[in-house]
Amino acid sequence: MIDLRSDTITQPTAAMREAIATAAVGDDVFGDDPTVNALEEYVAALLGKEAAVFMPSGTMTNQIALRVHTEPGDEVILESEAHIYYYEGGAPAALSGVSCRLVKGDRGIFTAADVRQVLRPIDSHFPKTKLVCLENTHNRGGGRIFPLAEVESIAQVCREQDLPLHLDGARFWNACVATGISEAAYAKPFDTVSVCFSKGLGAPVGSALAGSREMMARARRFRKMFGGGMRQAGMMAAGALYGLQYQLARLSEDHANAKNLAENLSQIEGVEISPEYVETNLVVFHTLELPAQILVDRLREKGVAMLAVGTHSVRAVTSLMVTQTQMEQVPKLVEEIISTAKLSKI
Ligand SMILES: *Cc1c(COP(=O)(O)O)cnc(C)c1O
Repeated sequence: MIDLRSDTITQPTAAMREAIATAAVGDDVFGDDPTVNALEEYVAALLGKEAAVFMPSGTMTNQIALRVHTEPGDEVILESEAHIYYYEGGAPAALSGVSCRLVKGDRGIFTAADVRQVLRPIDSHFPKTKLVCLENTHNRGGGRIFPLAEVESIAQVCREQDLPLHLDGARFWNACVATGISEAAYAKPFDTVSVCFSKGLGAPVGSALAGSREMMARARRFRKMFGGGMRQAGMMAAGALYGLQYQLARLSEDHANAKNLAENLSQIEGVEISPEYVETNLVVFHTLELPAQILVDRLREKGVAMLAVGTHSVRAVTSLMVTQTQMEQVPKLVEEIISTAKLSKI
């Protein structure tokens, strides 16, 4: 199976499994797990932050960040299709009691001027705006990179308004590898950064939140409260650490595979895609006539898995689970299915 449904399907490599099997462990709730401690220090240093906290999932990491920065009744500014708002089960309302003020972005990216538009004066009628969240790369924006210059302009508005800035960086590593900007430079404008180890890096489980020592102490308290305190979590941290050390730079291969796929798909009659929109490992393309689900079902019969993300939109995600040679077969299959469907209509 050429599995392009997501980069969450990545499995630990033999070397990663070895690192996991031999990891030194302890009870992390006591602060005793040396591998978790090593991972947290490594992530904090890499992102240029004082501290980091290991967590079970990206959703928990984001939601704890919201809880760290707000009190019930506050408001958070987010892009209209931000993962935190769109895909986290309504957690901002349920877990932190905050409302979401949405800014319409362009494939996930918005500007400092957009933030200024939604700022509220201090007045007892209004919720208090307490946080701005960005997403880099943007999931529903098709893996679009948030340009550093725009991040810095938004951070400037946040500083003027005394508003913290949080990054949902589930695919932050992809943004760093694609732009060549260092992790610390890209993380600098943010008060808290959430990163994920179980997507392109290939670890089985885990995310981390990084920020100031004080914020991370608060995050640790909420992690406990949200049920995310783990015991011999070094087993999982070892996979994350291995991914960071040995499987980060190779994300450029995923980007090259995605770009090639986009360029080849753009040559197919009946497919619409702008290859220049494909900046990292997510490829979203549109079928002009054939319903997306039918294309996806027929691809599956031929050994290729993708996801229909709209009536005529399909998503393919490259990862360490697919090779360049496997990827070369994919456009041909898409073309065959579309032209066969056309013929059978006549
Ligand atoms: C995957 C993802 C998350 C977190 O997902 P989990 O499945 O909870 O680890 C958060 N934000 C974005 C943008 C994502 O793509």
